[in-house]
Amino acid sequence: MKILVAVKRVADANVKVRAKADGSAADLANVKMAINPFCEIAVEEAVRLKEKGVATEVVVVSMGDKACQEQIRTALALGADRGIHVETDVDLQPLAIAKMLKAIVDKESSELIILGKQSIDGDNNQTGQMLAALAGIPQGTFASEVVIEDGKAAVTREIDGGLQTISLSLPAVVTTDLRLNEPRYASLPNIMKAKRKPLDVVSPADLGVDPAPGVTTLKVEAPAERQAGIIVESVEELVDKLKNEAKVI
Ligand code: AMP
Repeated sequence: MKILVAVKRVADANVKVRAKADGSAADLANVKMAINPFCEIAVEEAVRLKEKGVATEVVVVSMGDKACQEQIRTALALGADRGIHVETDVDLQPLAIAKMLKAIVDKESSELIILGKQSIDGDNNQTGQMLAALAGIPQGTFASEVVIEDGKAAVTREIDGGLQTISLSLPAVVTTDLRLNEPRYASLPNIMKAKRKPLDVVSPADLGVDPAPGVTTLKVEAPAERQAGIIVESVEELVDKLKNEAKVI
């Protein structure tokens, strides 16, 4: 079984990103970049399926400017076999990404496509669902367990207040939730080996997709700074302040 994993390059989850002074976008100059955490979980799951002998090949794809190759190489160091970089400087949005993934799925005959449930920069939570719809195949979103058996994928999903297990015929799309697994760290020898693994570069035109965005960002702003708190001396003082200053009771 061939698995395709989509990985996005995003600002590292530990970095506090600021908005640009003109409010047009997040300021990513000199910011440490990384694989989107949910995509790291997707890579780990695919590699584990290969290690169990369920998958024969793990192909990782990332879309965006040349710098995305850094995240593809990281995924290769984590155990993926081969990379595809869809190179473009266009501001990519979920619909265009889903269309390009569909073209790659068709070409690669991928039987399982694993994506993150959402990218931590745009918080879209759209690409996996759009891909499943465009490809006309089933989807298991927010997966906390994936078992491949008898040509089907049993996916346990994190839903409000519990878990739901569904069975998907293959090919299918799975999107990862946080509890699916704990990604490994890449070892130095594997980082070295990853440099020699194949990485194809294609353009959106090669995939027959016009990536022009349909959504324009009007404004980006940082959340309001939290006001400093105060320490009260007694319950009476607290009640008084809540009543007369904050006016919440
Ligand atoms: P989103 O719909 O933007 O929240 O992203 C959900 C998932 O789609 C991500 O976790 C990735 O697996 C995939 N994805 C989004 N953007 C890209 C990209 N530029 N390149 C590759 N995969 C992507």
